Amino acid sequence: MGDAPTASAAVRPLLIISLHDVAPPFEAEIRAQVGELARIGVSRFVAKIVPNWHGGNQVSAHSGFRELLTGLEGGGVQTVLHGYEHRTRGPVHGSPIRVARAQLFARGTAEFMTVSNTQARDSIARGWEEFAACGLAVPNTFCAPGWLMTDEAEDAIVESGIRYLTGMFTLHDLHRLCVWPIAAEGYMGAGGLQEGGVQMLNGLVRLSARDRFAHKIYLHPDLSGRQGWMGSIRRAASLLSQGWTAGTFADLAARGGDPPGE
Ligand SMILES: [Zn+2]
Repeated sequence: MGDAPTASAAVRPLLIISLHDVAPPFEAEIRAQVGELARIGVSRFVAKIVPNWHGGNQVSAHSGFRELLTGLEGGGVQTVLHGYEHRTRGPVHGSPIRVARAQLFARGTAEFMTVSNTQARDSIARGWEEFAACGLAVPNTFCAPGWLMTDEAEDAIVESGIRYLTGMFTLHDLHRLCVWPIAAEGYMGAGGLQEGGVQMLNGLVRLSARDRFAHKIYLHPDLSGRQGWMGSIRRAASLLSQGWTAGTFADLAARGGDPPGE
C-alpha cells in the first residue's frame, strides 16, 4: 500500500462519522446520536442501515423510522447498506484469520461470513428493495456487519454492481480497484472487556493516525442506555475544532486525485 496523502492547508482533512446498526429497534439511540451530532454542528455523516434487523424489523414497516431516514438523507447524510439481517445464518466460514475475527469481535453478527454467493446477492437485492420502499436512494456503498465477509460474498458485492466497499480501516473503489486507508476509532457497543480492547485500539490509532487524509469515528447503539458513545462525540468535536471537516465516504471518493493503490 502506498503512502497516505497528508492533510494540507488546501484540503481540510475529512472526518467521517459513521452510525452503525441504523435499524428500528435502536431508533431512540439513533435519534439521540443524531441530536448530539447536531449539537456539535455535524449534519453530514454516514448512516449504515440494516434493512431487516434480525429478520423481523423491515425499515419500511416503521413509518417514524422511515421518516427519520429520508430526513437524514435529504439533509446530506450518506446512507450505506449494512448487511440485511445483521446476524449469522449458519456456520461461519472463510479464511482462518477472518473466522477468528468473527468469533472474537462479531459473534453472531458476521452475516456475510455465513451466506453463499447467491444468498449474498439476494440479500443485497432485498436490501435495495427496502431502501426503495422507504424512498431512499439505492446506495452504492456496502459495509458488511462486523466489517467481515467471505471471498464469495465479496464477489457477490462486485457482481451486484456496488461501487464502494467499506472496511474497518479502508474504503475500496471496486470499479477503479483502489483503496483509501482511513484511520478509525469509536464505540463498538460490545461492552465489558471487549469495549476496553476497542478503547486500547483507539489509543493506538490516535498515535499512528496523525496527519492522515481521512479519519473515521464509528458509533454503535448502547443497549445499556448509558450512551457510551458520548466519548466518541466529544472526540469528534475536538477534531472539528482542530480543523477537520465532517463528511461522508462519497465526499472522500469525490475528492478525486489518485487514492493510494493497494
Ligand atoms: Zn453493524
